Formats: sequence, structure tokens, C-alpha cells
Amino acid sequence: MSKTKQHKYIFVIGGVMSGVGKGIATSSIGAILQSKGFKVNLMKIDPYLNVDAGTMNPTEHGEVFVLNSGLETDQDMGNYERFLNRDLSPSDYMTSGMVYKAVIERERSLGYKGKFVEAIPHVTDEIRERIMQASSTSGSDISVIEIGGTIGDFQNELFIEAARVLKLKNPDDVIFILVSYLPVPGTIGEMKTRPTQNAIRQVNSYGVQPDIIIARGPQALDHKRKEKIALSCSVPVEHVISAPDIETIYEVPVNFEKDNLSGILLNALRLRAIKKDGLAPWKKLVSRIKSLKDEVHIGIIGKYFDTGDFVLSDAYLSVIEAVKHSAYALGKKPIMTWINSKDFESGDKDASLLSQFDGVVVPGGFGESGIEGKIKAIKYVRENKIPYFGLCYGMQLATVEYARHVAGLKDANTTEINPKTAHPVIDIMPEQKKHMEEGKYGATMRLGSYPAHLKKGTIASEAYGQDIISERHRHRYEVNPDYIAQIEKAGLVFSGRSPNGVLMEIAELPKSVHPFFLGTQFHPELQSRPLAPHPLFTAFIKASLERSKRK
Ligand code: GLN
Repeated sequence: MSKTKQHKYIFVIGGVMSGVGKGIATSSIGAILQSKGFKVNLMKIDPYLNVDAGTMNPTEHGEVFVLNSGLETDQDMGNYERFLNRDLSPSDYMTSGMVYKAVIERERSLGYKGKFVEAIPHVTDEIRERIMQASSTSGSDISVIEIGGTIGDFQNELFIEAARVLKLKNPDDVIFILVSYLPVPGTIGEMKTRPTQNAIRQVNSYGVQPDIIIARGPQALDHKRKEKIALSCSVPVEHVISAPDIETIYEVPVNFEKDNLSGILLNALRLRAIKKDGLAPWKKLVSRIKSLKDEVHIGIIGKYFDTGDFVLSDAYLSVIEAVKHSAYALGKKPIMTWINSKDFESGDKDASLLSQFDGVVVPGGFGESGIEGKIKAIKYVRENKIPYFGLCYGMQLATVEYARHVAGLKDANTTEINPKTAHPVIDIMPEQKKHMEEGKYGATMRLGSYPAHLKKGTIASEAYGQDIISERHRHRYEVNPDYIAQIEKAGLVFSGRSPNGVLMEIAELPKSVHPFFLGTQFHPELQSRPLAPHPLFTAFIKASLERSKRK
């Protein structure tokens, strides 16, 4: 593979600590390079041994982002797609588990011809091959590769080593960016550069010298500190980019350009811009976001929140962003409130508190906890005509609720909760049963993009404005075909179905009965983009605005 000659690679590594926005920095670099006319692929490397992100607990790891192909990936891949405004391919994602598995399988089939197989060079070669493969699969001009974790982690060393070798072989085509953090200790109120200096020393110990430093921090970096970092980190002062906390992540590309980041990147990569100012749509979006006044209040009922005393909404990242995209497009400021469904079960909270919201979302989920609370909530919003949007589990539970309270199937349930229910209105898909019996949990759900046909004259078909759609999935259960006729007779409409008519993809109530009561078996949030909001989210927010006017 000698495509590397013209192809350019930018490695993004993190210093000081995690959680400072390396993913958003990578996404924004993608957006600004794209705005200069280049085709860019963004790639995430996760150093853990899981083969993909599918088996990880969302409370610990955050959202599992599913690609069209069905690969279950890290939530950063969602940011990448949102900022690039295009779909990414499975070759744009890599974990240590994936890499090791490939190396071990090759060894088992004598692929190394009897040699010792070692971390260096065999694992690092595999990493390099994959990076180069991703660039040719995407046909991109520039790859921006985010190496997960922080410098000094034991787990990501091999990836940094692979990047170093790629640079050694292609000195003009590879650069490194360090995303660092400059804390401002409360007691002194002064921004400190020392952790960044230490991080650089650590990077250098791997034989890598960053070309650019992105200095994250609560405030903008002043010139004095830029000079200090430049001097101690051996980079020109203009290569130190100030990246303060800001109101919206969608402003980061615009902010980077204030420090001429694309110019510096292209210069370092010996490239010339193809297009002049392609950032106009981002600038427009940012000024729109900043001028929003009227609010729309959305309640999101979940359960993956609790980590100690902190409330984390990371598990629902794409849902949050999708609500924002549509609210922004409709000129409203979205105010989202997190409600733990377990509170409705324990009686700590009453479902009537939902009447304060303009709209309510029940996002995806798994397992038993919090389920009866969600069903209580759905009953309340259905009966009180509060706009409701159910995503995956949220659609299945809306079907259960409707079956119980309207279709007269008293103890209807999903077999995920009660395998012995008299009315299994949601049941495991036949091929899934086998996987479960064999204990095969990894990458075995119904995953990725599948088409669905929409029924004319429904909310869904009106929102999409087309007859056939394609959406991403991640589930094991489905509406039980044996109950479809009975539930439809009671008034719930299955407005989206798989092409063979067997799988129910969308359930909704007619507008004459409820302003917006709709659930999807798929995850529309995964395809919503800031510059292209999802039609169903937009329809939901529109209905919520109608309610807010009436309130
Ligand atoms: N637990 C449900 C299923 O597996 C819903 C999954 C989801 O919400 N992603 O079918």
C-alpha cells in the first residue's frame, strides 16, 4: 500500500487528562479541513480490549454509536459524523481488541510463516495497515486519527508507536497534534502551563514531537502563556491554539479558525486550500444558536445516569444532539430535563410532573430496571396528550402500554422483562433466541441500516416526505407479529414496516387522537446532524411547540 505518498495523516493525542474534548477537537479539525475543499475521514482508536463498544455498560462508557454497517462504536464516531455531515465506514474505527484478534487469527492460520509474533512490529504493523486501509476505503485526502486515552497510558503506547513509524516512513505527510489542558486553580485564579509541559516531555519520550498544541481550558490563552508553551514545547507560537470552554460545541470549528488552524495545518502538511471559506454554514448555525430566545422544554426519561453523585447524560448523547439540531432549526432554545424512570416506580415522583414539559422522550435501553416507571410515564403522556417520542425501547414500551391499557391485554409485556407473560406483545426475534442460548452477545443484535416502508397519510410519512427510508438499528426484540392485528384494531398504527412486512419499525397514534405519539424501533438520533436535522425529531419538536403555545 503506497497510497501514503500523497495522503496526509494527522494524529490527535491527549495530554494531562481525559474528558477535555479531544473528540470535539478532532471533529472540528475534520470540519475545517473539509471546509477548505478536502475529503476527510476521521478515525477513532480505542485502546481497550473489547472488540467493539457493543458489550459495554452505557453508564460507564457512554452511548454506543452504531454505523450504517452495524458496527458498534464509541460515541466520538457520532461526533465525527455530525461534524463531517457524512456517514463513516467501519474501517474508521479500531480497538485494541480488534487489532489483537486479527493478529492472533493470522498467526493461527500460519500467516506469519512460523515467526515469533510480537507486539512490535506485528501489532504495530497491523495498526498502520488499518489506518492506511481506512484512508483508501474512504478515498479521503486527509485522515485525522484520534488516539484514545491520555499520554502516559500503558494501553495506547502501541498506537503511538505505530503513528511514529508512519511518520518515519512518510516524514512530509504525517503531523501530530497534542490536545492539552490548562487548569485555573480556584485559589490562585491563574492559568497553569506546567501540566502541559510535563505532557510534552512524556510525548517526546515516545520519539514523537507534536507540531501543534491545542490548549483547552476554562479560559482563552493569553499571548504570554502561548509564548511560554511554544518555548517549552518546541513549537512556533502560532502553533499554540487557544481552545477555551464555549457555549456550544458547534462553535469550535469557527473558534479554531480564529487562530488560523486550517492554515497552519495545511502549511504543515504542504497542502494548499482548494476552497476558500466553506465554513459559512457553521457560522450561520452558531449565530442562530446564540440568538435563540424562546425555549422548548423536553423531558427525557432514562436510567443510565447514576455514577456516584454525578448525573451523566453521556449515554444519550445522540438523543440530546438530535433534539438540539431540530430545536435550532425551528429557532428555539432546547431545555432538556433528565428524569430517572426509577423515581416513578419508587413513588418518589408522580408521572403528573410530566405536564410541565412540552414534549417527552423515552430513549433506548435494556433490561428490567426502571421499566414500569417508563410505562407509567408513557400512560400519562398518552392520556394527557403530551407529545411523546419513543426510541427503540421507547417504542416497544409504548406498544406494551397501549396493549395493556387500551387493547385490553391486561398483563401485556415484553419477554425481555417477563418471559412468562400471558401477552408477549414484544418478543425476542427468532434468530436472536439462538444467539442468547449460545451466549453470543457481541455484535449479534439486529444492527445497522435497514430499509422500511411507510404508510401514506401518517405522521411518519408526512415528516419524511418519502415512501422508503433507511435507519439504523440496535435491538433483539420486536413487536410480536401475532398481536399486530389486535393492537392495530385498538387504534395504534404501525406506520413503518420492514419491506417484507414482518417487522414493525414505527408505531404511532393518528393525529386526530393525539398530537404526537410516535415510537421507532430504530434509532433516528444516530442520523441527525446539526446541518441536517432528522425529520422525525423536527416533527416532534414542532408538536411540542404547539403544546407550549397552548400551555
Ligand atoms: N432492549 C430492547 C431490545 O433489545 C430495546 C433496545 C434498544 O432500546 N436499543 O430490543
